[in-house]
Amino acid sequence: MSSQPRMPIESGVPDAIQYMHPLLKKNYGAWAWHERPRPGVLHHVAESGDEVWTVRAGTARQMDVHTIRKLCDIADEHAEGYVRFTIRSNIEFMLSSADKVEPLIEKLAAEGFPVGGTGNSVSMIAHTQGWLHCDIPGSDASGVVKSLMDELYEEFVNERMPNRVRISTSCCQINCGGQADIAINIQHTKPPKINHDLVANVCERPSVVARCPVAAIRPAVVNGKPSLEVDEKKCICCGACFPPCPPMQINDPEHSKLAIWVGGKNSNARTRPTLHKLVAAGLPNNPPRWPEVAGVVKRILEAYQRDARDWERMNEWVERIGWARFFELTDLPFTRFHLDSWKGARSSLNASAHVRF
Ligand code: SF4
Ligand code: SF4
Repeated sequence: MSSQPRMPIESGVPDAIQYMHPLLKKNYGAWAWHERPRPGVLHHVAESGDEVWTVRAGTARQMDVHTIRKLCDIADEHAEGYVRFTIRSNIEFMLSSADKVEPLIEKLAAEGFPVGGTGNSVSMIAHTQGWLHCDIPGSDASGVVKSLMDELYEEFVNERMPNRVRISTSCCQINCGGQADIAINIQHTKPPKINHDLVANVCERPSVVARCPVAAIRPAVVNGKPSLEVDEKKCICCGACFPPCPPMQINDPEHSKLAIWVGGKNSNARTRPTLHKLVAAGLPNNPPRWPEVAGVVKRILEAYQRDARDWERMNEWVERIGWARFFELTDLPFTRFHLDSWKGARSSLNASAHVRF
């Protein structure tokens, strides 16, 4: 046996510089200006005088190895062998000459990859993992996002929105959902159903009790076995108890619905970041195409496109016209559930000193 200690295997994100297009590496941090000659194409000019054209295309997000190979072959044949993915799963090809732009766009179009997603378009939807590799989703994300983007294809390849539009989806209510101009989130509407035979074997009960934001879970003995019980009057159906305790099943094909939120913004550009607000709830969770959700998303986009001023982000538009007018323009029903300003949160949410994780 070797006396050498076994070295740790490095994992995580590799250094990106080694994979960078040589012109990007050479001019790193020294760009003079840029423009967008057409939707989906960026043209950067460096202080050194070097020029780079970037062509951005939409993908199906979760891709099989054959599709990835196809994209790599396109990069080898038309794009100097370099690609990168954006955080919204768009793929970008970097080119050193303007002559190469059109042949690349033609090839991408012929293979079914739309070119767009820049400027004032609806870029690819940022989404969570769904059924592919998470253990708690109430719906899929990748598949339905692809379906939804099929519906929004024209808004991806054109830049005809007042400002950029960012959409996100989230397949549970508690973890990786993000703020967005339009956010689509799972919304459970019934408390969890508890399988009392399994709780003692599978769940660490104090952790599950501590996890509940409204202190609705108590330890209990059911049929002589240690288990848990839920005060259903207090339960807000958030689903936070299901990940640490799968026997508290909350996903339901009928009662897990979808909700749409509007007006979230992460950036500090021009105005401060904002939290999105609920505008539609109780939409059927109807994969793989989510037609009811697609209908509402399109209605919101159409109203925004018609009514917002140039360069108004969705939250700025709503702030200017007011929420009452937003509901009129989008023809969405306004209910008492839309009114929560969190003023009562101090007494209604769990404010104990329990450590939660
Ligand atoms: S949003 Fe929730 S269910 Fe979906 S991938 Fe993230 S943690 Fe998993
Ligand atoms: S964690 Fe959420 S779903 Fe579970 S009992 Fe508490 S409020 Fe209800």
